[in-house]
Amino acid sequence: TAHRKVALVTGANKGIGRGAAEQLAALGMTVLIGARDPRRGEEAAAALRTAGGDVHTVPLDVTDLTTVQEAARQIEERFGRLDVLINNAGISGSGQVSPQDAHDQVPSSVDLDMVRRVFETNVFGVIAVTNAMLPLLRRSAAPRIVNVSSHAASLALTSDPDGPMAALLPSAAYSPSKSALTALTVQYANELRKDGILVNAAAPGYVDTDSNNHTGFLTVAQGAAVLVRLATLGEDGPTAGFFSEEGPLPW
Ligand code: NDP
Repeated sequence: TAHRKVALVTGANKGIGRGAAEQLAALGMTVLIGARDPRRGEEAAAALRTAGGDVHTVPLDVTDLTTVQEAARQIEERFGRLDVLINNAGISGSGQVSPQDAHDQVPSSVDLDMVRRVFETNVFGVIAVTNAMLPLLRRSAAPRIVNVSSHAASLALTSDPDGPMAALLPSAAYSPSKSALTALTVQYANELRKDGILVNAAAPGYVDTDSNNHTGFLTVAQGAAVLVRLATLGEDGPTAGFFSEEGPLPW
């Protein structure tokens, strides 16, 4: 199996990350399910193996540097490199409510500790994981990094009072965390362009998952499609981009 590409998806025990893991496994990649609860990660991995995939679990809490470094060590030991990193793990900050419908994220009354928690996972966690995995990605012939952002990250869309996002409640936590993630994507892409590492941000759309109490209208498979497309770009593919499945998104 040395010829198989190796992909790590963070937060892949459920939701969109699990959907991406399933699709990458179906493409013949070895897929590592990053999960902060290894037991639930292994349940997901076992289900995907039943479907024929080469899928394994890596304990990984993106806010816990010890587990991040241990995950990199395990991947190095078992596979020696990494071809694809999908930074998917994320939290809305608002429990079982869509962040766009959450009154507790309204800027003037937001709990600053909640903002900190959301940024810790959605932004700082991505830096921690990316930097731990970069030495392994540099050993790949075609390294790809995908950061899972959101339409709610788009300053162009969210600042348009007549646009499609106008009905959303203002959010001081989730939306800015994803805007920061998109911004970070550009900075990593610019640093890594000369090394042939393509780094892009993906907006899955409004997907039926636990994170919005299953109010989303897209399936997990539909939401994961753009992640998989960006994870499998050819060498002439874009970098520093922001895409939904429909195409490029405005910043
Ligand atoms: P889910 O809540 O279904 O899945 C989130 C995953 O992230 C879970 O596996 C969760 O693990 C994991 N996770 C959370 N915190 C951590 C952490 N500290 N370390 C490791 N894993 C963690 O949500 P979705 O599938 O909907 O979300 C996936 C990504 O897509 C997120 O980044 C989200 O912001 C983004 N997104 C989702 C949209 C949607 O409509 N659903 C729209 C736009 C973007 P656990 O099971 O242990 O909680």
